[in-house]
Amino acid sequence: MGKEIPARNEDYSLWYNELVKKADLAEHSEVRGCMVIKPYGYSIWEKMQQALDKMFKDTGHSNAYFPLFVPKSLFEAEEKNAEGFAKECAIVTHYRLKTDPEHKGKLMVDPEAKLEEELVVRPTSEAIIWNTYKKWIQSYRDLPILVNQWANVVRWEMRTRLFLRTAEFLWQEGHTAHATADEAVRETVQMLDVYAEFAESFMAMPVIKGRKTDSERFPGAVDTYCIEAMMQDGKALQAGTSHFLGQNFAKAFNVKFTSKEGKLEDVWGTSWGVSTRLMGALIMAHSDDDGLVLPPKLAPIHVVIVPIFKSDEELKKITEKVDQISAALRKQGYAVKFDNRDTHKPGFKFAEWELKGVPVRLAIGPRDLENGTVEVARRDTKEKQVMKLDEVSAAVPRLLDDIQQSIYQRALGYRNEHITKVETYDELKKVLDEKGGFVSAHWDGTPETEAAIKEETKATIRCIPLDVKEEAGKCVYSGKPSNKRVLFARAY
Ligand code: AMP
Repeated sequence: MGKEIPARNEDYSLWYNELVKKADLAEHSEVRGCMVIKPYGYSIWEKMQQALDKMFKDTGHSNAYFPLFVPKSLFEAEEKNAEGFAKECAIVTHYRLKTDPEHKGKLMVDPEAKLEEELVVRPTSEAIIWNTYKKWIQSYRDLPILVNQWANVVRWEMRTRLFLRTAEFLWQEGHTAHATADEAVRETVQMLDVYAEFAESFMAMPVIKGRKTDSERFPGAVDTYCIEAMMQDGKALQAGTSHFLGQNFAKAFNVKFTSKEGKLEDVWGTSWGVSTRLMGALIMAHSDDDGLVLPPKLAPIHVVIVPIFKSDEELKKITEKVDQISAALRKQGYAVKFDNRDTHKPGFKFAEWELKGVPVRLAIGPRDLENGTVEVARRDTKEKQVMKLDEVSAAVPRLLDDIQQSIYQRALGYRNEHITKVETYDELKKVLDEKGGFVSAHWDGTPETEAAIKEETKATIRCIPLDVKEEAGKCVYSGKPSNKRVLFARAY
């Protein structure tokens, strides 16, 4: 059929790339590091957007839109942020092309159309947004500002991978402004909780909430919180971040407000984002050697119905039954696809919809018509059962719920089996090499030790889990005292 993908245990990386392409999610484009998200892939992203957008609005946020370009002088204003992103920035220097007099049919940059000030293509929008907030905020009555933007950003990444790390990616970025540090910290944690809830309830992907170490912190932030997920190859993936910005951007852009007490104070800020990387996370968390496994809550198609027929007459009779089932399911809010193509055999269709991860497949043939039955197959376990036609519309919703729960439980089981406590550096290295996953170990809290471990093992500190318990221990690397464990892992 030409649609087969390699097995995960042969070459996980190749499995991933082939799956992304063969399931029609995305492909490489002419532009290095930039991808084309195909309609099927985009429809999954849209489902993610819808769910997240609702969660943002339910927590009081509104959407807005800011420019793609950031004047260099604004970009520079928050020094740490600028320095952190400088090496990944694309810059616009000219605004016009002209025909090249020396090469017929070619265009060249018009040297006369040089911009007075270069424009940075946003790698993130704190600068342009805080510069705008300066105009929006005068008094405590103007606060809080709770804004989110759905947009694209550009980070000139050298090593790219479809969805997981691309030079241009789609994301949402929340940018909030507050009167007190307390309120801003509460917002930062609230949005981390929103991300964790989305990952677990919609993506069926368990995550660990934690804080980044100083060296992994977002440039310009005071504190970076993250959710970390575990992929099926034992590598970690940072799936979302929420930053407490302190007053750093307010100071850089001179955003002050008059407090209730009449004092002029700097505004407190947060920013938080998730990107199309979540698509990569979704794929890697659940899918198998036959293709995608999608959680029903994010599946663009919940149920596919494949007729098994030899004649037009048979197809007509099957279609009548299918129309009834589809109507009953659609009425309950499910997306149903009737694959009545006569250009492909049922076996081909089964494989294709498995590849695309449709959670439930119904098959109806002439014998089912006689018996008033239908074959129901679930994508996650491949289990099949024969059911009475009139039971289907009540059974499918239960089955979808069950799939949503059981793929979460399976991922949770895998994740929990892949958190290993170690006491020594040798153990840490052994676990990383032989088992993978998160390694829970004592660390002395210094960036030097963190860097040395990263250099020697390629593992980074993924986070300091929020629910970590204080316990006396010794750093696995330096032997110095430590009062809590952190999670190390090799990561995407
Ligand atoms: P940050 O602004 O660096 O905190 O990143 C916000 C979100 O974007 C995080 O969830 C990252 O995982 C994600 N992200 C960062 N860089 C990329 C990239 N090159 N491609 C896709 N997603 C990314």
